[in-house]
Amino acid sequence: MVSKSRIYLDYNASAPLLPKAREAMLAAMEIDANPSSVHAEGRAARSIVKKARRQVAALVNTKDDHVVFTSGATEAAVLALTPHYSMGRAPVTMSRLYVCAADHPCTLEGGQFPEADRTLFPVKRDGLVDLDQLNALLSQHDHSAGLPLIVCHYANNETGVIQPVEEISRIVKANRGVFVLDAVQAAGRIKIDMAKPMADYLIVSSHKIGGPKGAGALIAHADLMMPMPLIRGGGQERGHRSGTESPVNLAGFGAAASIMADALADWDAVAARRDRLEAAIAVIAPHAIFYGRNTPERLPNTLFFGLPGMKAETLQIAFDLAGVSVSPGSACSSGKVGQSHVLNAMGVPSNDGAIRISLGLHNTDDEIAKVIDIFGEIAARAKPAA
Ligand code: PLP
Repeated sequence: MVSKSRIYLDYNASAPLLPKAREAMLAAMEIDANPSSVHAEGRAARSIVKKARRQVAALVNTKDDHVVFTSGATEAAVLALTPHYSMGRAPVTMSRLYVCAADHPCTLEGGQFPEADRTLFPVKRDGLVDLDQLNALLSQHDHSAGLPLIVCHYANNETGVIQPVEEISRIVKANRGVFVLDAVQAAGRIKIDMAKPMADYLIVSSHKIGGPKGAGALIAHADLMMPMPLIRGGGQERGHRSGTESPVNLAGFGAAASIMADALADWDAVAARRDRLEAAIAVIAPHAIFYGRNTPERLPNTLFFGLPGMKAETLQIAFDLAGVSVSPGSACSSGKVGQSHVLNAMGVPSNDGAIRISLGLHNTDDEIAKVIDIFGEIAARAKPAA
């Protein structure tokens, strides 16, 4: 639980567990059985998993049986990013993986593709995918060896930039490709409708939407063609992901999905708070550089900025000491703060790094006012004496 005396502004790293998710998990803990067992207790455990599947499917408007639960988004990504798919019994080969250069490391690492079979596609200086370049790369794809598999983030975890996914999907389809969309940061914050022409596969994570860590899903647009399983065994998840499901984690994931699906309209107020904070930072530190601010669409909760002359780590520590949790760049490799590969991909020099502030539904106006005061004090201290 996040301490009440602190202000937590690191939702893109992990959203605190929602009270309703916790309640659902505690209730699920009362059921000891294996969800694959056929007796009454087993059926009770299975009904928890079934409910969670319905709730997660509803979040992105798709059918329940298109959802394959995994241990998290990273596992879902490695499952999807494979050269080996099957359509019924017929194998389908993906001969090359095309990865967006500003993706999260879980897809950037290429999943099950050897390095020689991966190609990066670029983003422009504003963080948006360079659609012309993507199209040019895909139009050179040699279909005789197999299909092109394309993976991209929906919303960037550092900048909050939202990609034009419908246009990307159109380019992928025009080039007879298969599209995996990492919707980890977008899910629950913007409306996602898988009934629309979008991606073939979507990746979501429980702990980014207020569910527990250790759960995620790969969601297929249609389940005709699926990746060969990464984890084989007892055939759970209709054979797509073996291993006994965790009803406790999935109960929390499902509850969080359900709450977030109903709360989409509330993000407008979050965007207003984010904008207020961003505007105040710009006044206090006119030399601050904001990244991803001027793209057509951005997550409502994210702001990413650097202060030339002040290392992002120094700024983050100053915030931390003042009781505010923010991240220098991506927090996924905690403790390992390097150059932001996202800013590198954007071609933006960022020697001092950047700070990511990511709000949640539960941050208040009061908290934002306090953070503005704290930033004012930090910036005043950082000013060289005249
Ligand atoms: N994709 C994006 C865009 C992310 O931001 C993250 C985590 O930060 C992940 C994937 C990995 O998610 P998980 O922690 O569930 O493996």
